[in-house]
Amino acid sequence: MLDKNLINVLSKIYKYENSKYDFDKKVKVYQTPNNLTEKQKELLEASNFELNRIREHNHDQVIKELKGITENPDLEHIVSNLFIKAVGAGLKRGIQPIFSYYFAKNMPLHDFNPFIKKGYQMENTCKICGMKNRMWGNDSKNLYDLYIGYCRLGGYAEMLLDLKEVVAFENVTATNDEKNIFLKVIDLIGKAPKDEVPSQLIKRLSKEKCLPGSNNTSRIWVVKCLAELGILRNSYSNNYSIMNPFIPYEQKWEWENDIHKKSPPRADVEFPISAWRGKLGVNREFAKRIMTSAKIA
Ligand SMILES: [Zn+2]
Repeated sequence: MLDKNLINVLSKIYKYENSKYDFDKKVKVYQTPNNLTEKQKELLEASNFELNRIREHNHDQVIKELKGITENPDLEHIVSNLFIKAVGAGLKRGIQPIFSYYFAKNMPLHDFNPFIKKGYQMENTCKICGMKNRMWGNDSKNLYDLYIGYCRLGGYAEMLLDLKEVVAFENVTATNDEKNIFLKVIDLIGKAPKDEVPSQLIKRLSKEKCLPGSNNTSRIWVVKCLAELGILRNSYSNNYSIMNPFIPYEQKWEWENDIHKKSPPRADVEFPISAWRGKLGVNREFAKRIMTSAKIA
């Protein structure tokens, strides 16, 4: 796991004003600003952290590697504990892995299959997983994002970056306190007023201070991830969960498109979170499954 102090240094570097856009690769490249203290410079150097590891990701290769990594028998235990810690103790690096793991595990092994939709230019997107066929990424910045709780809940090559790192994490065990908070948060969400919308839920969680160590970014992504896990139900598929059999990108796209049609023109909609309302409540079965997977040693 990256050191907290290193993350603090990186947060001074990975800012828009320190970036240059590489138009060929469509990625941002970062330069170290002048405002780092001597101590921060030393820490950065001693860490050997490469600031711009820029790689080209190819769909078929990423999919193969993602399927391969889910064969690891410890991974489910690791991601379950990380997620409980994300909710129960504010471990921001713990939000994404549970999504990446179940997405990769339940997705079929497949080659790139272009998503062709009249009126939309999406030929570079796979209709099964939603991943681009080829694309460049700044792996270093993308990894940093995962440490500040910013997630990629969809077909992204970052899932592989994510799982490759967490599979090597040792002794990730959620404490009883963290487990209790996790369950308490789900109870609290379950008590939502009938017409509560996701943005109001996020505000309520903040006001009630029930997510220790969280900030606005991490609260947003915890809630989005809870919707992906099916703990927050959605109005399109009652039993939806990333832990259940895989739902292709094409289907999710249709649902999302339908939400768009029913929403105000400039609303930012995302499936499944945008299809949650207080009256739909929570599905505790999926929370139980995470608790069970977290136990297995
Ligand atoms: Zn695909």
